[in-house]
Amino acid sequence: MHISIVKPLIGEEEIKNVKEVLESGMLAQGKVVGQFEGEFSQYVGVDHSIAVCNGTVALDLALKACGVGEGDEVITTPFTFVSTVNSILFQRAKPVFVDIERDTFNIDPNQVQEKISGKTRAILGVHLFGHPFDLKPILELCEDYNLFLIEDCAQAHGAEYERKKVGSFGVGCFSFYATKNIVTGEGGMITTSSSEVAKLCRMLRNHGENGKYNHVILGYNFRMTNIQAAIGIAQLRKLDWLNEARIKNAEFLNKKLKKSGLRVPTKKSNVKHVYHQYAVLVEEDFPMSRDELAEYLKNEGIECAIHYPKPIFEQPLYRNLGYEDERCPIAKEISRKILSLPVHPGLSKDDLEYIVETINSV
Ligand SMILES: *Cc1c(COP(=O)(O)O)cnc(C)c1O
Repeated sequence: MHISIVKPLIGEEEIKNVKEVLESGMLAQGKVVGQFEGEFSQYVGVDHSIAVCNGTVALDLALKACGVGEGDEVITTPFTFVSTVNSILFQRAKPVFVDIERDTFNIDPNQVQEKISGKTRAILGVHLFGHPFDLKPILELCEDYNLFLIEDCAQAHGAEYERKKVGSFGVGCFSFYATKNIVTGEGGMITTSSSEVAKLCRMLRNHGENGKYNHVILGYNFRMTNIQAAIGIAQLRKLDWLNEARIKNAEFLNKKLKKSGLRVPTKKSNVKHVYHQYAVLVEEDFPMSRDELAEYLKNEGIECAIHYPKPIFEQPLYRNLGYEDERCPIAKEISRKILSLPVHPGLSKDDLEYIVETINSV
């Protein structure tokens, strides 16, 4: 038995779309990218989508387009992939960490206000593992203090907060990296209903052009290719059923995992959780430590992963910048207890039952 932790589902539609692009000879950013952007906007419920070459540059451009620059502060979570927080450093701005909620692992809205200063320009939240962060109180703070809201949606394609899709509340940043809920190999998307932000992102993506060979600002080449967009169009059409399969798998695991000392994921009642990861907590009263359980599962043929083994302020890059413990005890505790189990749509009933039996018999 071998059960992998990720498995992108690529079918005939993706292959057919890519073949058409290859045969057309129009390989770089063109009509197909435009079509992907249009369908993505419609799906998320925004006026504009801007396709880019990965999720990291989506975050980079979103922050730039919101005017984040040297000396500004951006409030964010320490419990995420490093890319989220690095996007703040790219602007020569300062990440300010707020601890997370114990149940959702997302930024704790009750601790945000005390971190707002005269230099705060934006709040960058992450819909971690596919569970939306608590948008309502954070949007209220953005309104009161005139801050931009940036949503890192790299793990949350199709997730909803009070029946609205994530990426439609602030400026959304998505990734289509090969492990995400939908994939293009590498790829990213920015979503917004601000025509100003959209215009800046489009210019920054393409050498600061506002017309052919007219360069008004310093821009980059962060474009997506038609080849990636062709895969993305086919994947987007499958997103809802891919997510439904993840949700069904998660519900099965929630119901069947019975071992005490193992805390299964929680889901708040006002959200649609799309289970990019199925992350359990291995508490002190579990018969094995988290690392022992990970090793045991690996030996039994079940891949698992630790997202993430340390909060961002413990990464050498951030330690060297002078970050200490930032009064985030929950992020520290969770990073020692967390373990991601397979939940992807490629799992069979037998796979799921084997995962449950293996863990329940520890
Ligand atoms: C994957 C990911 C990113 C970065 O996306 P890339 O496409 O890999 O650059 C950013 N934030 C989070 C939370 C992610 O999971």
